[in-house]
Amino acid sequence: MEALLKHLVDITCQRDHTLLDSSVVSALHELVGASQVRVHEMFRFRDELFMRPRVWIKDGSVVSTDEDFSVDHNGEPLNNYPELVDSIKQRKSCIEEVSAAGDRTLWLPVWLNDKVSTCLEVTNPTPYDSGTLHMIEGILSVYRNYQNILDYSERDSLTGLLNRKTFDEKFSRLLSTATPEASPQDQEERRHKHTTGIGHWLAVVDIDHFKKVNDQFGHLYGDEVLILVANLLRSSFRAQDRVFRFGGEEFVVLLRSTTLADARKIFERFRSNVEQHEFPQVGKVTVSLGFASISAESPVVILGHADQALYYAKANGRNRVCYYDELVQSGELHSEVSNDTVEFF
Ligand code: GH3
Ligand code: MG
Ligand code: MG
Repeated sequence: MEALLKHLVDITCQRDHTLLDSSVVSALHELVGASQVRVHEMFRFRDELFMRPRVWIKDGSVVSTDEDFSVDHNGEPLNNYPELVDSIKQRKSCIEEVSAAGDRTLWLPVWLNDKVSTCLEVTNPTPYDSGTLHMIEGILSVYRNYQNILDYSERDSLTGLLNRKTFDEKFSRLLSTATPEASPQDQEERRHKHTTGIGHWLAVVDIDHFKKVNDQFGHLYGDEVLILVANLLRSSFRAQDRVFRFGGEEFVVLLRSTTLADARKIFERFRSNVEQHEFPQVGKVTVSLGFASISAESPVVILGHADQALYYAKANGRNRVCYYDELVQSGELHSEVSNDTVEFF
């Protein structure tokens, strides 16, 4: 009872989804004695549902996509788990699978506002007794309610993407781990990343001629385009990346631990995914994207760089991906932050 209370206090003091996931995984791991607990996120891509792990147990400790980048960002089609698909269709709260080795896996879809975007997986070598099942159910309810509260404050209500307030918090946190006062180990890691060309990247994405969509088809279709672009954003980036609705028809993507060549490829793939998508009634929509490296500069300067690259893309044909440093090196852009950008922020 005392251990359960301790975990409940821990779960409900979190202000961040990843920390909430971690505390729930840790509670189930310890209280149930489960050999594996995973939190999976579910997402839709090209009309198919996929699932990918967000937090799990590795070597006895809780890890997330923030620490372990080895998970496949594409995830697995949910159709690989027909029983889970069936149980979601029937709105079941729990299904149990027994593997050939006798391991018992519980799949627990988390229902929020008639949608499942998260699923818990709990594996145990022995059968669950009714007391344990009852406790798992209780923790699941607390998790669901608390996710609901966090979503309300962290997410944009139209697209479900993280909102601008969350961006400010997450971006400051990411930058604080990249400051010069970091530990020698961090500095060594940064030196390694510098020599291997691995870094973090920030992109500003803006829908091209979006005003025309509203003017021609009405605000409701405009909103529908925003939701579909948000879905394409979610499915085009990896689990460790973060996507935010920055305001209006503007989005920000944080791409973590990747080379410039890969960053460009990943942004280009998203641009192309949007270009190829058929938007109901509206038809074709394109996006422009400006990106910059996340250096030791202040958030305003980094955003300003990505924004300048975006405006260059807008002024030079739209439907393109532009990289700030490259534009500066080629003399297309000057490295000062323009007055426009200062005013903007
Ligand atoms: P550009 O290619 O230069 O970006 O042109 P644009 O038309 O996309 O840019 P502009 O900034 O002129 O227009 C953005 C429009 O987005 C204007 C605004 O009414 C619309 N908008 C902003 N937020 C929302 C929203 O939540 N829903 C809808 N439907 N429209 C929105
Ligand atoms: Mg705009
Ligand atoms: Mg626009």
